[in-house]
Amino acid sequence: MPQSQTVLVSNLLRCPECGNDQEFVEVSPEVTTTTFYQQNPDGSFTPVNQESEQTGSPRLYCGNCEKDLSALYERFAEMIF
Ligand SMILES: [Zn+2]
Repeated sequence: MPQSQTVLVSNLLRCPECGNDQEFVEVSPEVTTTTFYQQNPDGSFTPVNQESEQTGSPRLYCGNCEKDLSALYERFAEMIF
């Protein structure tokens, strides 16, 4: 019998509480946003550049049952692409 061609990753990140392996929520508690403005001759301001810097430790939650999965965050972050 031919094997199925479906590719299954055996080590998907999975919520140990509800089994959800599709929806996750990342919460960044402290993000510093720096916006550079240029003043125009009429006195108005136009944003020309914006930088965001994350200073706090982000938290990871299950998107289904909201269980705190921050212990798995490092692995989660490695798989974002
Ligand atoms: Zn869950």
